[in-house]
Amino acid sequence: MAGVQWHYVLKFIITGDAAVGKSSLLVRLTDQRFLANPDPTLGVEFGSKLITIPEENKIVKLQCWDTAGTESFRSITRSYYRGAAGCLLVYDVTSRQSFVNARSWLADVREHADPHLTCILVGNKLDLCSDESSDGAAAGGKRKREVSIEEAELWAKEENLLFVEASAKSGENVEAAFERATRDILSKVHRVA
Ligand code: GDP
Repeated sequence: MAGVQWHYVLKFIITGDAAVGKSSLLVRLTDQRFLANPDPTLGVEFGSKLITIPEENKIVKLQCWDTAGTESFRSITRSYYRGAAGCLLVYDVTSRQSFVNARSWLADVREHADPHLTCILVGNKLDLCSDESSDGAAAGGKRKREVSIEEAELWAKEENLLFVEASAKSGENVEAAFERATRDILSKVHRVA
């Protein structure tokens, strides 16, 4: 791969309710850090990252767009979705409401985005319930999980979404989520090639 900067450029969009951690996932991916108190008015809107898919011998440049505050409009302009190859549909594993609302975010994506878009459902804030024991709330202020893996997995399967639980705070599965979606996109490229 000497001399090659990247083989593909893929546009990713990140959607989901306010405060589920969309900006934090983007900052974690592109900057390997976590902000405990990000300023919502200064939400990251765009970030890019090179990832390598070794078995394909390919370097892929991800261009990721965050909805950055537009959640309140519940519908985002078509231009935001245009050309997107991948979508992270994010909910917070400690917020049932954010999981319920993921349905309408998905409807929005399906209405506006390319029908072949690869979508990965991401249950964020896994660190808040990583103990999985009954005394979670007592241990260091951890919050209770409100969406089970099984339920999210089932819904993802029904909707033909990839699925992963992640934490922007610890970094767990963040790059992996983008990598899984990228692999899926590349496999579609091969099918039409
Ligand atoms: P957005 O509105 O969806 O972009 O959400 P933000 O990225 O602004 O995050 C909202 C709040 O959740 C902030 O206080 C973040 O620090 C916090 N947050 C984001 N991701 C995580 C995570 O993985 N774990 C924990 N514990 N907090 C998170």
